[in-house]
Amino acid sequence: MSKLDRDEKLGRLDLAEYELLRQQILRRDGWRCQFCGTMSNLQVHHQQFRSQAGADVESNLITLCADCHSVIHRRGQFVVDKS
Ligand SMILES: [Zn+2]
Ligand SMILES: [Zn+2]
Repeated sequence: MSKLDRDEKLGRLDLAEYELLRQQILRRDGWRCQFCGTMSNLQVHHQQFRSQAGADVESNLITLCADCHSVIHRRGQFVVDKS
């Protein structure tokens, strides 16, 4: 029953799970922004392909620095499937 509750929260992970996943993404991407290559102020961006929600979370995430992250959000780049 609590499992069903969690599944209904649109794929939101709890903090510990999210932190683990974040570390995985950062390691996969070599601790570099995948846009400009810097290794500082790294953040993980959710690309959120709605058709695959929850199926393969790791493939929906990409490492970006804070600057590129905000630029991408403003321009909508890296977002293949915008709704
Ligand atoms: Zn960057
Ligand atoms: Zn983002």
